[in-house]
Amino acid sequence: MAKEIIFMPLGGGQRVGASCYYLKLGENNILLDAGTGKKDGIIFVPDFHSLLTLPYIESLGQINQVYISHAHADHVGYLIQLMKEIPKAGVYMTDITRLLCEYQLYDRQYLSGKGDETRRLGTLSVFDRITEVSYMKLLKFSSYAATFFSAGHIPGAMMTLFRYDKRNILYTGDYSIDPTPFTDGCMLPKNLNIDILIMCGLHARHPGYRKKSDKLFQEVRKVFDFAVRKNISVRCYVPQLSKGIEFIRMLNRYNEYHVPVYIDPSIMNVVYKMERLSIPVLNEDNRVTGTDFPTRSHIYVTSDITSRPMGGYLDINIDFSLHEDFPQMKKFIKQLNPRQAVVVHCAKPFFGENTTIEQEIIKDGDCRTQFIFAQENEIYKL
Ligand SMILES: [Zn+2]
Ligand SMILES: [Zn+2]
Repeated sequence: MAKEIIFMPLGGGQRVGASCYYLKLGENNILLDAGTGKKDGIIFVPDFHSLLTLPYIESLGQINQVYISHAHADHVGYLIQLMKEIPKAGVYMTDITRLLCEYQLYDRQYLSGKGDETRRLGTLSVFDRITEVSYMKLLKFSSYAATFFSAGHIPGAMMTLFRYDKRNILYTGDYSIDPTPFTDGCMLPKNLNIDILIMCGLHARHPGYRKKSDKLFQEVRKVFDFAVRKNISVRCYVPQLSKGIEFIRMLNRYNEYHVPVYIDPSIMNVVYKMERLSIPVLNEDNRVTGTDFPTRSHIYVTSDITSRPMGGYLDINIDFSLHEDFPQMKKFIKQLNPRQAVVVHCAKPFFGENTTIEQEIIKDGDCRTQFIFAQENEIYKL
């Protein structure tokens, strides 16, 4: 009884959004991530109620530690509210995640004029309780230890490895195997023996999904093709702030023509945060958006769908994946060969596809992995 491992998704089970997972390692009550989701314009949050009806904890005040994998809203959007309910819990994330979270969760509201000053300061004091961790760092508690590894995906993203009762439990958060504009891809030690893998399996039900590794490069080339060869200004709409800076990084890398790249103020604020952490983003071709745009062709990058400077622009919507695809996921699981794989953060199957990563892996004779596609509010004894 005392050494049991219990797992329960409170959100982000077989869907994307509001990732939050309860992990009980004996007497330790742990939460992995605390995100929000959005469906049909309505925000949804993790369901703590079902957890409190179980015999494990009576109130959220009994949560001991919270680990935040990275600064995307589906993993961190609910953190401030949660921290107010769990004043004694330790909250752990990397320094970059913390900085990006500060922007996501309070600067942005304040800068847009939506948040009032008292609330902002209240939020700020909650941030003071966060403990920053580094990759490879070992955190020791009385009956378990945690170590952190780079997850790729976005700057600051971490995987967390728990060592408890001679078992290794790895929570991946969102991860990427391939390098992304700001990361080298995930980095795990060799010969890691994983018993339980709790993985974000976004494409675990998409057997046909292949990421074209040069998609981002092709988009960059297309933008320069218009701005340089056809002499047309291009407005690039990038759906997420963090993808905005990733896209700017790629534009700068290939801007041998020195086309001016204008950046909207919301993305610029994230850029400043990154540069404060010594992650260089800008170069001499970048300009913050003011009122003056040049008459010569230029590139305007924005994450605000309504932001549209005067003048003629060609609109290009930029999107690219910072996740692993189906074959990469298969390789990742085969390499780790865990006893159990608990798949969460799983998007619905595409039309006409009904094979999952489990059926694909099981074909392999050497594979010992048992799969659980964990449902929200279901209890799993691991
Ligand atoms: Zn993410
Ligand atoms: Zn996610």
